[in-house]
Amino acid sequence: MKRIKIARILASPELIGSEVCVKGWVRTRRGNKFVQFVALNDGSCVGNLQIVFDMNKFSDEQLKEITTGASIGVCGKLVESMGKGQTCEIQAETLEIYGTADPATYPLQKKGHTLEFLREKAHLRPRTNTFGAILRVRSALAFAIHKFFQEKGFAYLHTPLITGSDCEGAGAMFQVTTLPLAKLPLTENGEVDYSKDFFGKPTALTVSGQLEGELGATALGEIYTFGPTFRAENSNTPRHLSEFWMIEPEMAFYDITDNMDLAEEFVKYCIRYALDNCRSDIEFLSEHFDKELIGRLEFVLNNDFVRLTYTEGVKILEECGKKFEFPVHWGTDLQSEHERYLVEQHFRKPVILTDYPKEIKAFYMKQNADGKTVRAMDVLFPNIGEIIGGSEREADYDKLLARIEELNIPMKDMWWYLDTRRYGSVPHSGFGLGFERLVLFVTGMTNIRDVIPFPRTPNNAEF
Ligand code: ATP
Ligand code: MN
Repeated sequence: MKRIKIARILASPELIGSEVCVKGWVRTRRGNKFVQFVALNDGSCVGNLQIVFDMNKFSDEQLKEITTGASIGVCGKLVESMGKGQTCEIQAETLEIYGTADPATYPLQKKGHTLEFLREKAHLRPRTNTFGAILRVRSALAFAIHKFFQEKGFAYLHTPLITGSDCEGAGAMFQVTTLPLAKLPLTENGEVDYSKDFFGKPTALTVSGQLEGELGATALGEIYTFGPTFRAENSNTPRHLSEFWMIEPEMAFYDITDNMDLAEEFVKYCIRYALDNCRSDIEFLSEHFDKELIGRLEFVLNNDFVRLTYTEGVKILEECGKKFEFPVHWGTDLQSEHERYLVEQHFRKPVILTDYPKEIKAFYMKQNADGKTVRAMDVLFPNIGEIIGGSEREADYDKLLARIEELNIPMKDMWWYLDTRRYGSVPHSGFGLGFERLVLFVTGMTNIRDVIPFPRTPNNAEF
């Protein structure tokens, strides 16, 4: 008989009375010499299905290998359950054991392991209720992102992961090379001879797909990217990964207001999608980790984001009287503590800050007439701080070139980018959403290492 997933069984009362087959991993077994109960989970939902073994039909010998973590297949009749905590259960007719799990060594014996402990067991933690829930929410959010943009007619553009320009300015890069590190080929001047390297020049893993995204937007109109990015920053924070996923929409003919409208609609759509489609997972996470989670999600959905300039934001921070770890004044890059103060204490709503000092933002952002600020926008969220960074882009060739020269960005890397401003240049805008920051927000987790299956952080690339 064909396997039915437990999520479907629990959602289909009409199946009661019929013969079903389920396959999954044992969470617990308990009982006595007359009857044994197994809680089975198959990863399709947070709920377990109870399997009842009548010990007139099965022997102790047959059941002794059914320990926590073992994988089994069971066929039998689905019946309404008398017991508390479940609506239905299977009366087992046949049992197949696929793989045992030695109780002496299987690490996930008891409930309530700490998240820190589970990070050391990242190869098995997807089998816990918590990580099952997080990973299903993550998957649903990824789908929601494609759905949102596809329904709007955006094209999904695949930008390269290996890049030859080190000018994105988003952070330190991981070099990609096939040169023998122990015996580097040198030029006459004693420098590394990159003409001998795989691509004939230095290359690195991308920190952002934006520059190529702009090439797509100025041809297809509206595009988005959704892929991994890499940052070799030594920032050991609960909000930074060395390898993370980013969504970067880029739109021709959008000014910064259109950009903010899209960003707000987009994150709300994703949160709504998760609430509608992952309700039991989110409820589970809320119950176990963060009682305020669902309220916070609803709150973001039901409120307009506050929009103000960086200058206004800094003024509020300077005048609020709070002592911050990092002092704040006009010109400083805002730290997470400042962002969270504005969102959580001052406005108590998500905030979009715009028009940052040009010195702390990237070269490609549209320069304002004041000569000091650029048309940047950061979306700041409760508990997270910055979740989105974006801007209207500088569309004027001369202004862009002047900024590139001012920052000494080598032209040999930039000629193709500047061509978008030489031929049919248009006002355009875009932003980057850190996928894991969105998953953090929606799951209520507090450490970014817990919302990606296999986190990469400084000194950690296990699994
Ligand atoms: P932060 O100030 O938090 O380091 P950033 O200014 O470097 O962020 P951007 O370069 O604008 O961020 O990247 C766009 C988005 O990508 C950010 O808004 C954030 O959601 C996410 N992001 C940036 N760096 C990381 C990282 N190391 N790990 C996970 N997400 C990140
Ligand atoms: Mn950063």
